[in-house]
Amino acid sequence: MINRSFFSLTKPNMAYPALKFDREDVVEIPLPSKAQLYVNGSYAAAEGNGFRVGERVKTGQRIGLSGGGGESIVSPVTASISEISSFTGYMGQTLTVVAFDVENKDVWDDEFSASKEMPLLKRIERFLGCLPGQADFSSLLGFLPLETIVIYGIDKDFLISTNRCVVQTRLEDILQGIEVLKKIFGECRMILLVPSGYGLQAERTGVEVRALNPAYPELLPKVLMHRLFGKEVPAGSRCEELGVGFMSAEAAANLGTAFTGSRIPVHKMLTVIKKDGSLVNVRARIGTPVREILNTLKIETRSGDRLVLGGPMTGLSVYSEETPVLADTDALMIQDGRGAARFSDTHCVNCGECVRVCPARIPVNMLIRVLENGMYEEAVETYDLLSCVECGLCSFVCIARIPIFHYVMLGKYEYDRMKTAEGSNG
Ligand code: SF4
Ligand code: SF4
Repeated sequence: MINRSFFSLTKPNMAYPALKFDREDVVEIPLPSKAQLYVNGSYAAAEGNGFRVGERVKTGQRIGLSGGGGESIVSPVTASISEISSFTGYMGQTLTVVAFDVENKDVWDDEFSASKEMPLLKRIERFLGCLPGQADFSSLLGFLPLETIVIYGIDKDFLISTNRCVVQTRLEDILQGIEVLKKIFGECRMILLVPSGYGLQAERTGVEVRALNPAYPELLPKVLMHRLFGKEVPAGSRCEELGVGFMSAEAAANLGTAFTGSRIPVHKMLTVIKKDGSLVNVRARIGTPVREILNTLKIETRSGDRLVLGGPMTGLSVYSEETPVLADTDALMIQDGRGAARFSDTHCVNCGECVRVCPARIPVNMLIRVLENGMYEEAVETYDLLSCVECGLCSFVCIARIPIFHYVMLGKYEYDRMKTAEGSNG
């Protein structure tokens, strides 16, 4: 396995626009009449853990475990379960879809508020392993103890403003969340990243603040490790293995309100990037179909328009307006079909743009050839697949419009599956 040193941050220079937010700027999306949750794992495993069609569930009620044994699945609504079905995810993985007929008034489950005597870590693992803003919070807890936690008050993708909005409108909640994090992680250093121009206000809180004026992809965790701590994360390793964890300001704020309000957070803030490039921040119940957001904002879509969950660099297209907002949905981007760049099945013309732009200095033009042919081990051993920091710049600059980023993500996923299968076969 190759292990390249970072970084050649040259072009394109994608600066984050300066934005100011007030609470009133955030548009509240009404409670939908239908909602859905996607759960990792198979239908049988999920059903075996407690889901039943026709069952009535309360808001904040634990209704099962993901993957038949992962983190708790919490109902974001008071509803009856109308359907349980399976669905194939982005990488071909099996997901369970739980559909709800939503009642128009919340009845809150009291198991979380009644569990105050439970040890803090156990309580968090049991109820808050999937926080809005940090769907994999439970995996961070798996790396205890950590030396440092970096809290993102700026979003990684440059057009998303979700965490910039949270840091400007929910600073008190974030501070409450940091107090909870201190109890979990002990003598851990906490750094709050904020946009420059907001640093003074955040510094008054007494938290260690870093005000940045970054350009994409400087905020990706492995790139930040280099910039903030001078550490290089070995290929295939996680930042947490070097003692540094990352979480979003929204997740920290939600952790804070979970303990001050004794309720499991069930809302997600997300940035809507409209066809003309303007941004609106909205707050929606987890499980809300994308259609409800489009209707509330009076955004019309035509045949050929593209809906993307996530930002312009790493977002994923979705093919139905019924797709729900989930705990990790930071943005919804609507692209006008007339101007949207389309991927093609053209072959690489060896222009070298992807190689020049790659911050991890991977020979992307060679990597794509083996990935297109499903040669995942060669992609890792010879062309350094696991050094990729998942920035999406290669796809962005490719003149042949090859969906390189998606090949890269699929390659990592398949390589991981192969290694897991080899491990379990002894
Ligand atoms: S997504 Fe592409 S450009 Fe970015 S690090 Fe990975 S291979 Fe390099
Ligand atoms: S940018 Fe696209 S066409 Fe150019 S070398 Fe890379 S993969 Fe090939």
